[in-house]
Amino acid sequence: MVLDPASLTVALVLLTAVLGTLLIFSWTLNRRLSALVWWGSAFWLLVLAIGWANLGRGQPSYSVLLLANALGILSYGALYVGCRVFNSRGGILLPATLGAIVWIAAFPFIYGSQGLRLLLASAITGVYAALSSWELWRHAPQALASQRVVVLLLACLAGFNVMRGLLGLSLTSVPWIDGFAQRWSSEMALFLVVLCPTLAFMFLAMSKERLKLEYKQAALVDELTGIPNRRAFLQGASRMLDRLSDRPASSLLFDLDNFKAINDRYGHEAGDRILTLFARTLAEHLPKGSFGRMGGEEFAAILPIREREAAALANRIRGAFAAAGMAALDADAEVTVSIGCATASQAKLEDLLRQADQALYRAKEFGRNRVVTA
Ligand code: GH3
Ligand code: MG
Ligand code: MG
Repeated sequence: MVLDPASLTVALVLLTAVLGTLLIFSWTLNRRLSALVWWGSAFWLLVLAIGWANLGRGQPSYSVLLLANALGILSYGALYVGCRVFNSRGGILLPATLGAIVWIAAFPFIYGSQGLRLLLASAITGVYAALSSWELWRHAPQALASQRVVVLLLACLAGFNVMRGLLGLSLTSVPWIDGFAQRWSSEMALFLVVLCPTLAFMFLAMSKERLKLEYKQAALVDELTGIPNRRAFLQGASRMLDRLSDRPASSLLFDLDNFKAINDRYGHEAGDRILTLFARTLAEHLPKGSFGRMGGEEFAAILPIREREAAALANRIRGAFAAAGMAALDADAEVTVSIGCATASQAKLEDLLRQADQALYRAKEFGRNRVVTA
């Protein structure tokens, strides 16, 4: 079978244009995913570069070689910047354009040698592809499954460019190797025809995976304090009780004292700060995942400990919060918390929380700023 380079190139250019448009269209559906615009633009720059340099008749002129290759390099720059944007990292203009600037500056000196031109262009694009792969591998804020595939694809793209550059230095007599080393060939077009749609598909998959994770996070994290919300706490607590089976578990219910008065006296914003402060106090005393905000100024925790330990822990939290609250507002501010504790083995979560709530009610009755055990 003989692959006709011109037909393959036409197919590649059309395919890449469609993919670039689809990536940009996906961005219009969710403007937060701005990396998709960069990747869509990278595909379109590639369309212009390949189309311009390879679909004309005869040998390309000086200006076509200069500008078409600059566009191709800019395309890799946009690919890399898209990866940085995806990771919410700064630095856009210089990383996007540096490669093209180097190319334009060096071009007058290497114009005469096809080998040197190939070597420089491949070196720059290879570095961009490797940096893109590295960026998604090392700087990803979350571990996304699809991201690993993209890292691999970009590493393949880097390898492809390095191989082109190296083969350009030493033309062999093996036809398929020479194909890769030429300025443009059906082998290269074929490689890109396979890689481009795969990459575009994985960019979309990665963006969707990121969004899904963010929505999941938003559904489970309390926006003000950053700790698990009621739903997340109840889910985690049920799982813990299942794991403990017949070993004892203690639930602690916290309700800030006279919180309405704090809001009235110091303002709602100060109230918010106190809520965040209390969440931080919990985080300092309790293991991650064992506590959450139930709503308003009420918090809860569940722990695999006995009654005495639970009461002692609750008292430490009460003392730490009173001290921190005073420091946050003023010395005569009464920023305190009442805590109800309940301990049981093989209890249902609802029962354990109800008992702790009754204990909390008594703590309020007895004068607040205290711990009562059911
Ligand atoms: P008690 O000691 O009996 O618990 O008295 P309290 O004033 O703390 O209880 P109450 O239930 O009367 O008032 C709770 C207050 O918490 C009322 C509400 O405005 C305030 N609150 C609830 N959620 C928030 C919030 O997110 N931020 C702020 N600043 N205040 C909140
Ligand atoms: Mg309350
Ligand atoms: Mg209260």
